[in-house]
Amino acid sequence: MHGTKLNQNDSSVAVLLSGGLDSSLMLAKLVEDGRCVAPLYVRSGLFWEQAELAAVRRILAWFADRVRPLAILELPVRDIYGDHWSLTGEQIPDADSPDEAVFLPGRNLLLLVKAGLWCRQQGVPFLALGILDTNPFADASEEFLRTVETALNLYGDPPLQIIRPLQGVSKTEWMKWGQRWPLHETFSCIAPMDGLHCGGCNKCAERRRAFREAGIPDLTRYASDLDGKSVSPA
Ligand SMILES: [Zn+2]
Repeated sequence: MHGTKLNQNDSSVAVLLSGGLDSSLMLAKLVEDGRCVAPLYVRSGLFWEQAELAAVRRILAWFADRVRPLAILELPVRDIYGDHWSLTGEQIPDADSPDEAVFLPGRNLLLLVKAGLWCRQQGVPFLALGILDTNPFADASEEFLRTVETALNLYGDPPLQIIRPLQGVSKTEWMKWGQRWPLHETFSCIAPMDGLHCGGCNKCAERRRAFREAGIPDLTRYASDLDGKSVSPA
């Protein structure tokens, strides 16, 4: 719908990175496709951000000068999240918790507004999110993304398209595709210990499962394993 307004030669794409497997694989795909990639990281004061941002920088180093410099946007959420576990690091959902336990209120809306406005300001016509088809949250749905896109485009030109490059392919297939990169350098833990994956949180369990299901050796260093504790991921 918005494609007709776009400069067809401009395939620049802003990529929202979290340092995790999904957004890193998305970045790899877009770079491989020859897109002009503008990496974005949004800092909100979340408990795991220091380790996450370090991972983002590691992942960007895979592509050296093939991507634009990292842009970091500030979006503090303490005033609305209060004592939410994502800020305090207390009572973080563990390996046995359901997917829904890691929902962050309004997260994608906040990210899209901030990153979307950045794109419009910079004249970048595409904004990419590493959302898999299996994402259970309402703010990852096609309807939600199109609604936010429409709202942002009511400001007029230049138009922005929100895209999901991971769509239509399973995480397992993406990981197999991306195993030429050191995937263990990605980061997806919500309770990091000294910059390492904790090994026992909801996201670490999901990560271990992803490597196992893809049949790829998981070279991640998990703090719980180093302690000698036995860990049995879900
Ligand atoms: Zn963890």
